[in-house]
Amino acid sequence: MTAELAAALRAGDRRALARAVTLIESTRPDHRDEAEWLIEAILPETGGATRLGITGPPGAGKSTFIERFGLDGLKRGRKIAVLAVDPASKRGGGAILGDKTRMAELARAEGVFIRPSAGAAAMGGVARRTRESILLCEAAGFDTVIVETIGAGQSETTVAEMVDMFLLILPPAAGDELQGLKRGIIELADLVLINKADGELLDHANRAAADYAAALRLMPPTLRGWEVPVRAVSALTGAGVDAIWDDVARFREATEASGDWSRRRAEQSRAALWSEIGEGLREAFRAAPQVAAHLIAIEREVMSGARTPAEGARELLRRFTSNIQGRRRIDP
Ligand code: GDP
Repeated sequence: MTAELAAALRAGDRRALARAVTLIESTRPDHRDEAEWLIEAILPETGGATRLGITGPPGAGKSTFIERFGLDGLKRGRKIAVLAVDPASKRGGGAILGDKTRMAELARAEGVFIRPSAGAAAMGGVARRTRESILLCEAAGFDTVIVETIGAGQSETTVAEMVDMFLLILPPAAGDELQGLKRGIIELADLVLINKADGELLDHANRAAADYAAALRLMPPTLRGWEVPVRAVSALTGAGVDAIWDDVARFREATEASGDWSRRRAEQSRAALWSEIGEGLREAFRAAPQVAAHLIAIEREVMSGARTPAEGARELLRRFTSNIQGRRRIDP
């Protein structure tokens, strides 16, 4: 059954892609096994897309931008998939993205894949399923995978760690007026867009763009041969939006030439490996009976100040590892 799914996926069947994403989102152990088999099977067909992360404070115009940008991309012959990341959401999938109100036109367009976030999950789970969803989209033939962060906070940095190029969309306001934007996020941006450069907001947007450009010039560049551009755009009128595709192409060219493109991906894979190790260890730790028997008591002692956190952790880790050493293999 999974082999059929893999075949349909490779043939670019969007329904198969949707099914595959549902599979990798499932937490059922047998589904997880199938999902891992599927990812292994399609791995040779992955890696080809340009992975774009898009973030920004709520109301900045992310979904309006992605719709316009996506439609422009279609005209350029791009095959576009949009994934949403929203660890905080309690809402069901369809309510967030790809429904009738958000990106309606793009969602209707031929050959576009839009996948809403599937509700709340621990950040580690969200990161894994997004990483795997990107691979599935690539195997299905999409050449541009856009990952949009919906929830604020941690998801922004998580997304930055799984894309090739990170776009920050800001409303036309000065930096210190921005609400809900995590500090430090601007340092992760490969491209900054000041949106709503239209009507009465045009001057504000241009001024904000100039301010951000000046601020960015003071920061050390993170990639060789790439100076982070700041563009004033209007997702509403479309002004300046299509040209962003040229920035994306230039970015890919510059970073491929410098080697940063593949270096970034390699670093991301290493970080993902360690995060999977961390998750796995944490799960095994919590599940270990010799730990569970003492966990609550030690937690209490730490909370009351009877033990230091370091000493409590050491004690629990000692119990955890002593059992492992006596057992040859760790069951997941
Ligand atoms: P998101 O929360 O970042 O996804 O923001 P939305 O795309 O939902 O947009 C928030 C509001 O800003 C909506 O009312 C949009 O119509 C409006 N908006 C988005 N882009 C523009 C733009 O370029 N110009 C203007 N004037 N309004 C915009």
